[in-house]
Amino acid sequence: MQATFPPTQGGEGILNYQTYLFFDGRTEYIQGYDTPQHTFPLGSLVFELLDMEFAPYLEQATGLLDRFRDADFPSERTMAQSLAEPETCVYYQAASFYHGLAEAVRTTSPALFDLLEGYCSATFRRFKQELDRMTGQLSRASQGQASGSRLSTNSLFQRAVQTGNLALTSDLLEGYCRSFPAYTEQMEVFIELDTEDASLCETALLFLESFAELLRQLTQAAEDFRSLIAATLVDEDGRPRTEHGQSPSELLAELAEHGDSTYQKYHNLEDDIHIQTRYKRPIDNKKGGISAATFYASDTLPALLFLEFVQMCAQNLPVAVCESCHRLFVPFSSRAKYCERVLDPETGATCKDIAAKLAYAEELKADKARELYNKTRNRYQMRCSRAPGNQKMRVAYNAWRKQAQMALSKYQLGEIGWETFEKVIQTGL
Ligand SMILES: [Zn+2]
Repeated sequence: MQATFPPTQGGEGILNYQTYLFFDGRTEYIQGYDTPQHTFPLGSLVFELLDMEFAPYLEQATGLLDRFRDADFPSERTMAQSLAEPETCVYYQAASFYHGLAEAVRTTSPALFDLLEGYCSATFRRFKQELDRMTGQLSRASQGQASGSRLSTNSLFQRAVQTGNLALTSDLLEGYCRSFPAYTEQMEVFIELDTEDASLCETALLFLESFAELLRQLTQAAEDFRSLIAATLVDEDGRPRTEHGQSPSELLAELAEHGDSTYQKYHNLEDDIHIQTRYKRPIDNKKGGISAATFYASDTLPALLFLEFVQMCAQNLPVAVCESCHRLFVPFSSRAKYCERVLDPETGATCKDIAAKLAYAEELKADKARELYNKTRNRYQMRCSRAPGNQKMRVAYNAWRKQAQMALSKYQLGEIGWETFEKVIQTGL
């Protein structure tokens, strides 16, 4: 009879992927578990990974784990008592940590934020999924059928109760993380009921473990992707390799053929990627019909980032380093040297705007210097022509002109300041 039951899914390691990624040429789509689909230009995830500074958050998470890992969570303590002392309340600290991280990622890295939210949901819903599986097994066992679990019915029941508690407190903590520092309605009810807080503390620790691991992976991935990008997309001068006829897709194939260890490491992670065909109706409806697309999902975020990197190479995407902020961007032409990230949040000016303004100011300054030189030279020349016999004056004039010309080019190169330049021009007159 056993053959009629569906096989148990995934055994110990259940996949929780919640966020799907889909590429269409140089555009990418990210769709969360219960969030709308977002569209980004190809490369957004990798660029944003490199823009983000994850080290302080990793430090914060590991610091909290060190502080609370061996802490004693007394079973009689209530949530109200715990929350009254936020410094020593691990779930207050965990929610505060997630709030800070999420805000930072949302601001600088909107595409990566979608993946982070997906990872967060997956982490919190892990116990819910496990509980569903155990409940199925228990119900089969209660009907006298094979449960599909290696555990006895009794221990399966105990595990299910434990998992049920974790599922409940995960739900609570997820709400708190997203609404921090406010409480959700659900939180308020639990506080009011004097719920014991030990299980919530355990959940907070598991959550912190999971995020510390994610941040470690992302920090390492940032370093690895820098070297992969240097080998395939960007040259030593920070310009796209495509600009001198090199093909990133060929360079990537070479990395693969030569068994490059960094390439291999991320290539192996592709085993963690789950593929799903999804059908979507275009929003504008102009093209009509439903289109099918292959979506990728994974709990291993660096695997998805690698997939994007491969797509960047396959598309021979031109990638350059911005001469202003030194971050990566896709230039529109070989003349584009600056990205369009907002550099000055007060005025909203981008690297490109600021570079244009600076170039204009430089030009004005150079014009002003040349004007002073010309005016002085003309005056001097005039004086010489009024005294044709004055050899001494002509020698002095020639010496002055030599000095003044040198000062002008030094000033234009930025080697000397305006005051020094002005002094040289006025000396010997
Ligand atoms: Zn820039």
